[in-house]
Amino acid sequence: MGSLRSLFLRHVAQTSEAPMMFEPVSASGSYIYDQQGKSYIDLIGGISVCAVGHSHPRVVDAVKAQAEKYMHLMVYGEFIEAPQVLLAKALHTHLPPSLDSIYFVSSGNEAIDGAMKLAKRITGRTKICCFQKAYHGSGHAALSMMGDEFFKAPFRPLLPGIRTLRANLTEDFQYIDSDTAAVVVETVRGESGAQIWDEGFLFRLKQHCLQNGVLVISDEIQCGMGRSGTMFAFEQEGFVPDILCLSKAFGGGMPLGAFISSRERMQLLTREPYLGHITTFGGHPVSCAAALASLQVLEEEDILLRVRHKEALFRKCLVHPKISGISGRGLMLAVHLPDFETVQKVIQYGLQHGFITDWFLFESSAIRIAPALNIPDELIEKACALMLESLG
Ligand code: PMP
Repeated sequence: MGSLRSLFLRHVAQTSEAPMMFEPVSASGSYIYDQQGKSYIDLIGGISVCAVGHSHPRVVDAVKAQAEKYMHLMVYGEFIEAPQVLLAKALHTHLPPSLDSIYFVSSGNEAIDGAMKLAKRITGRTKICCFQKAYHGSGHAALSMMGDEFFKAPFRPLLPGIRTLRANLTEDFQYIDSDTAAVVVETVRGESGAQIWDEGFLFRLKQHCLQNGVLVISDEIQCGMGRSGTMFAFEQEGFVPDILCLSKAFGGGMPLGAFISSRERMQLLTREPYLGHITTFGGHPVSCAAALASLQVLEEEDILLRVRHKEALFRKCLVHPKISGISGRGLMLAVHLPDFETVQKVIQYGLQHGFITDWFLFESSAIRIAPALNIPDELIEKACALMLESLG
């Protein structure tokens, strides 16, 4: 048998010609460890996934307990499975009354897909609007809305009836018309480099949609579950989406996604045709048990209250002539550097000196900060010092 490294290259499909090739053996809290026992401060948490840190003991206990009771039993939506019901009830306490019905899936891409189908079903319309430099997933439907032609072109034909709008330009609202089913929008834009919308833009977008019978689908797959400092980022933008999409941190480290709307609207997926959306593994009981434990940790350890303080600490520590700015909100930040080469240097320096960061799909000159929401302040200071060192 070859080394894991050579077997990985030989048998595990890759997504680029230059994977990071980092080989972890364990992880705990905000640290990842390699074979030599060397520790790395994790500044990206599996890309905004590990909100309560790696392998939080309460999440691990919940996974073990549920796996011992039962794992997969039946396709989604037929049996009354306690982990799904209890999670739905707990999540609802954080949501406005109009978002009271949750459809569980397994990933972000599937959540977006289900939300798009539901919007078509509710409105009887087919056109969907999205934004430049948006990322909603890699399947055909989400890819149709990817705000970058480079990634889409080789896979055409994609979904018809998609209109891409420019960010922060209310002039483009003219394309959100009476043929439009929905506008899909990341409440905080992830892959374009943790970008916040201009003040009031999302509120005006929602008003325009209301006037035209168009639904707003908020993609909070990356920015939800406390990452922006409130449980959901839309709370800070003064609007309520018609459909909310979650994944990533939602599963507490396990694969889980959801699209959420009102019960009345969600019921449309049960008729004409019945089985309007189905999935085998959506709302897997072990994932739901992990998600509930993770949500309880967020609530009981008052983690959200300190997110904005931790953001301020990153901003205070990351001052350097090569840093032109830090965009984002809460613990979804982008540190803007001169160019992609500098970004690569920081990433490589991190792998040598003990921190892990990453870049963005549509913002090649920024590095990503999306750690566990409970990352200790000392680790923030330590990681920032190392990052500044890497900039020279
Ligand atoms: N929407 C956003 C904002 C995302 O960041 C991602 C994943 N990066 C997705 C959707 C797709 O999620 P998944 O990879 O689970 O399909």
